[in-house]
Amino acid sequence: MNFEYSDKIKDLQHQLNGFMDTHIYPNEGTFHQQLEKNRWQTPAIVDELKTKAKAVGLWNLFLPPVYADYSPGLANLEYAPLAEITGRVHWAPEVFNCSAPDTGNMEVLARYGNDAQKKRWLEPLLAGEIRSAFAMTEPQVASSDATNIETSIELDGDQYVINGHKFYISGACRKNCEFMIVMGKTDADNPNRYIQQSMIIVPLQTPGVRVIRPMQVFGYDDAPEGHAEITFENVRVPASNIIAGEGRGFEIAQARLGPGRIHHCMRSVGAAQRALEMMCERANTRVVFGRPLIKNQSVREDIARSACQIEQARLLTLKAAEKMDTVGNKAAKDLIAMIKIVAPSMALEVIDRAIQLHGALGVSQDTFLAHAYAGQRSLRLADGPDQVHIMQLGRSLGAQYGND
Ligand SMILES: Cc1cc2nc3c(=O)[nH]c(=O)nc-3n(C[C@H](O)[C@H](O)[C@H](O)COP(=O)(O)OP(=O)(O)OC[C@H]3O[C@@H](n4cnc5c(N)ncnc54)[C@H](O)[C@@H]3O)c2cc1C
Repeated sequence: MNFEYSDKIKDLQHQLNGFMDTHIYPNEGTFHQQLEKNRWQTPAIVDELKTKAKAVGLWNLFLPPVYADYSPGLANLEYAPLAEITGRVHWAPEVFNCSAPDTGNMEVLARYGNDAQKKRWLEPLLAGEIRSAFAMTEPQVASSDATNIETSIELDGDQYVINGHKFYISGACRKNCEFMIVMGKTDADNPNRYIQQSMIIVPLQTPGVRVIRPMQVFGYDDAPEGHAEITFENVRVPASNIIAGEGRGFEIAQARLGPGRIHHCMRSVGAAQRALEMMCERANTRVVFGRPLIKNQSVREDIARSACQIEQARLLTLKAAEKMDTVGNKAAKDLIAMIKIVAPSMALEVIDRAIQLHGALGVSQDTFLAHAYAGQRSLRLADGPDQVHIMQLGRSLGAQYGND
């Protein structure tokens, strides 16, 4: 296996690193200042930088080669080192139109949407003009098992009527979130639990949709996208808003989450790498008991262990990405599960060491560490909790090797 990046990717890495140095890192403070004025409005700096990124072709980097009209047309293996770079600042992916949950929704609409849905919803998403959300999780049921989802989607003439209660719906708090892809049941009594669900497009402004409150993550509201609690009360949308027909919801959810999971992991590697670099900087400059921190063996061990763990996760990410490119997402599912189990926990360990090395500053609002820690901790739940991936991986490996 050859993980040497091609000249095309080296150029893009160079270009992206330059963009981060010139436009993203110097504006980390600006982002938060602008957000203070209106927490659910996209800060102006993001819109300004989106225009710049689009103009230089750093746009929709996550889209595979079949969508080369809208993007540089990168394979997963090519996107991985670029997503790693954007993962160093939590709001950077949006600047390049590469942020969740929009990326997953774009993939769903591109693959399963009809022409009218693509025109109305996919094209403005690809252009970065609107934002979207993906609504599956419900407070009343264990949503890590998607077959438990209870929201009802019932056909009534030429409309579907939706009733349900969701929470932690990322992106739905922001002002320019125009629609959600909602998962619910169109056929709750079907004996096959995997075809009871469907996915349907619901504009946020539809009567009966109520965003109740932004949920928090360890006290962070993650503005401007937020994680909304939402109720649906007799929400009516045209029947044509169903995606790919009734009964396809579970299948679409599985397809949606494959690439999304690895994108998160690529960014986790980037967040951990940034924490490692901060650790080294701090260890060389902070003097304790008469000598820089780096002179202490325990500090060197923390740095060395972190570098080993990051490189292991990076290589596993690249291997999973390469497998997705060469044999498809389904055949790569074990490797995708492995990296989703490994990467957020790895990043948490590395960031935790960086926090410790920074003392009180590490838990403050003055570095990216505290928020990154909260984000990586959430990732052990979002897009499938660790235990679900472990269960599926164990089952798959058991079946592969158990029959010999
Ligand atoms: C910051 C954040 C953003 C999110 N964004 C979205 C979003 O945009 N859209 C959306 O729909 N959802 C979103 N979620 C919700 C997330 O996907 C769910 O929390 C997740 O699927 C788990 O569902 P649950 O919370 O109902 O936990 P439950 O299903 O109740 O599971 C609880 C715990 O049980 C354990 N568990 C589960 N299965 C097993 C098993 N087989 N063996 C052992 N233990 C097991 C796991 O530890 C799990 O965490 C988000 C969550 C967070 C924290």
